Amino acid sequence: MALTGLQIYKLLPKTNCGDCNFPTCMAFAMQVAAKKVPLDQCPHVSEEAKAQLAEASAPPMRLVCIGNDENKLEIGQETVLFRHKEKFYHPTGVAILLEDSLTDEELDKEVSYLNQLKFTRVGEKISIDLVALKHKSTTAEEYAQLTEKITKKTSLPLILICQDPSIVEVALKVIGGRRPLVYSANRENFKKMASLAREYNCPLAVYAESLEELADLTQEIKSLGVNDLVLDPGTRKTGDALNSLTKLRRLAVEKVFRPLGYPTMMFTSEEDPFQEIAQAATYICKYASIVVIRAKGKWQILPLLTVRQNIYTDPQVPNTVEVKLYEIGPVTPDSPVIVTTNFSLTYFTVESEVENSKVPTYISVVDTEGLGVLNAYAGDKWSPEKIAKTLEQQKVRERINHNTIIIPGLVAVFRAELIDEFGWNVLVGPEEAARIPSFLKNEWKSGDKK
Ligand code: SF4
Repeated sequence: MALTGLQIYKLLPKTNCGDCNFPTCMAFAMQVAAKKVPLDQCPHVSEEAKAQLAEASAPPMRLVCIGNDENKLEIGQETVLFRHKEKFYHPTGVAILLEDSLTDEELDKEVSYLNQLKFTRVGEKISIDLVALKHKSTTAEEYAQLTEKITKKTSLPLILICQDPSIVEVALKVIGGRRPLVYSANRENFKKMASLAREYNCPLAVYAESLEELADLTQEIKSLGVNDLVLDPGTRKTGDALNSLTKLRRLAVEKVFRPLGYPTMMFTSEEDPFQEIAQAATYICKYASIVVIRAKGKWQILPLLTVRQNIYTDPQVPNTVEVKLYEIGPVTPDSPVIVTTNFSLTYFTVESEVENSKVPTYISVVDTEGLGVLNAYAGDKWSPEKIAKTLEQQKVRERINHNTIIIPGLVAVFRAELIDEFGWNVLVGPEEAARIPSFLKNEWKSGDKK
């Protein structure tokens, strides 16, 4: 039974020292009770109190780690149903499904391809996270050999998809040290699967076709000494799966129902390649910790990873880049100067279009508190005065032998003041970043620079 804030407070030092980043012990206790901060954020709590508070301070959803090196994937430990309340912490792992019918050559090709499914978006590297190998027709030895080949070719963590413990056992003897996720334990095989998971210290996926059965199974498996579990509620149609995943998240984080307080996984079932990605994106939004897909085209993976990136950013923290003068390419004193905001999406869009133009360019980033061009203007977060001050702080005049800056077309209204009040020559750039290359090649080169 979870403790109340008051019960937790009684066990704290009550010195109100503030070392936990909360002004009082009571404020900290309330946050611990709400599962929003871990107890160890207070460095002064006694061992005795820790033991008493362990249950209250444990996150409502267990953190599960798959893999054992720097490419390990951590999932779970979410605390809220809606990201506007706090944020989601551990991004959904995207697993690509391979089958054991692949020849050696095909497997090599597939895994090499998966290794380079990496992208850079708004300055962040995004990639797939897992390879899932489904057992269909091979012998135990052949399946084990395939898993070994995969582990030699990639550092991505693995999911072993096989319900036969005797086959899983042979594979674990070979690659157990890589801590794959074993999928799955069910009502028939859970004792043997739990024994293997315990012996090889691997996380174990649990499959059942109802939440009641899932809760019973997790309790039985836990009593066998396996704690790192991942739940598959067995539903495959999008609506049913969404329903199950939402119920699981609600029971875990709102009701703190420990038997279902584990990360979840879901498989796509749509045959149409567009529908499959839409289905996977739905599961990323609500609330799969792992989504296993067959799709692997770059045109499918990039939008899926983009959805994940958007969902797993902190909605309360603006996505910003450092406020400074950036040099894109081998700039010279003749190079153009583009002014933009510190909203990262805006900056990286401008930066990539400048790179496309092949025109070495300075980008002067102004602090707009993480807002894009129009929002910053509407919210009074930037102005001609602020731009002029930023250019001065960044010593732009000392870097160039002209006096011209390019401002976004959406704030053309700044032009007159920047000219009259601050002495800059101002070119009004395009409204859309996509037009930056042609602007730099044509209008900048022939523009009236002073
Ligand atoms: S660090 Fe501990 S003792 Fe200090 S205010 Fe926070 S809860 Fe109280």
